[in-house]
Amino acid sequence: MGFFTGEQIGPNEYKAGTLTRWLIPKGTSGNVFNGVGRKDEYRALPQMHGPEDHPWQSLVILFLIRAYLGSFSALVSFIVHQWRDRYGSVEIAPVRVEKSPEEFTAEVKRRALAHPEAEVVGITRMRKEWMFAGQEDIDYKWIVVIGRSMDYENLAKNLNHDFSSAITQVIGGYEKTQRAAVDLANWVRSQGWPARGYGGLTTTKGELHAMIPPALEAGIGQLAKNGSIISDELGSAFRISTMLTDMPLVADAPREIGVDEFCMSCKKCQTDCPPGAISNEKTLVRGVVKWYVDFDKCMPYVTEHKACGICLSTCPWSRPGIAKSLSQKMLRKMARQEEMVAS
Ligand code: SF4
Ligand code: SF4
Repeated sequence: MGFFTGEQIGPNEYKAGTLTRWLIPKGTSGNVFNGVGRKDEYRALPQMHGPEDHPWQSLVILFLIRAYLGSFSALVSFIVHQWRDRYGSVEIAPVRVEKSPEEFTAEVKRRALAHPEAEVVGITRMRKEWMFAGQEDIDYKWIVVIGRSMDYENLAKNLNHDFSSAITQVIGGYEKTQRAAVDLANWVRSQGWPARGYGGLTTTKGELHAMIPPALEAGIGQLAKNGSIISDELGSAFRISTMLTDMPLVADAPREIGVDEFCMSCKKCQTDCPPGAISNEKTLVRGVVKWYVDFDKCMPYVTEHKACGICLSTCPWSRPGIAKSLSQKMLRKMARQEEMVAS
């Protein structure tokens, strides 16, 4: 075990290096900070996001320094993302175009999917509880969620513990999906409606919001054991961005695609997670029982390896071209089970 990196001391057990252990806040747990075990529902605290103070900030800063010094491409993506956050929005047109919610929805989805950096899109009503704690209550009515695959071949090098491409795929993926969201927001603004595009690296104080809960509500996919979304189009190796707007739209709905049923009997990510951060059981987090990744185990590993994402690339759904057929197979199986129960 060294100063900068730790060592694997068991199949799912990792001991962090000296520097990491020194920066881990004493007397507090990231899981407690995230609300693990809490029955009451309240807004998530921004832990990995934005400029807000939090106990793990030193470790997050170390992660960012290592990630960006280790990958020029990731550094460029980060800078472009930040620049676009601040200067990428066009003025809202003074004359407002009026159309029905159905017409606007069709146009928004057509334009999103025509974007080179977007592959899936879903819409749902914005909820105040999706804003992180301490943020303003942004007064937009709708949230549009955009998803885009990471390059599987490059990401999957992490299965051989080569993490050089994972950081590029993660940070680059955030920047590319943000581009799609900001471009879409700019089209909405050109129609005279307020809109703003956000990416996973957005740090705009007061506007930080969770992206996974709205993505689930918008029917992008379902929450999986690896703590990420599985989509029946993109598997689990993809990034999302959001656009908030008041343009009248029509909401999509959450969709059953068989993920939960599959995860109940699959242990691939759990077995392959080096620090053992993935549990076979769902966890109570801020009033909701759901799949949850142990922050205290995952974060030190991710920090020391500048990225990880093994749980994304090892997931059977992430293999290119597999997700749709896996979903159909699971839905058929679930229908058969329901028939047997009913008969
Ligand atoms: S990114 Fe996934 S595989 Fe890697 S340490 Fe975290 S939970 Fe485990
Ligand atoms: S690897 Fe298996 S258990 Fe883990 S998220 Fe994918 S399907 Fe679910």
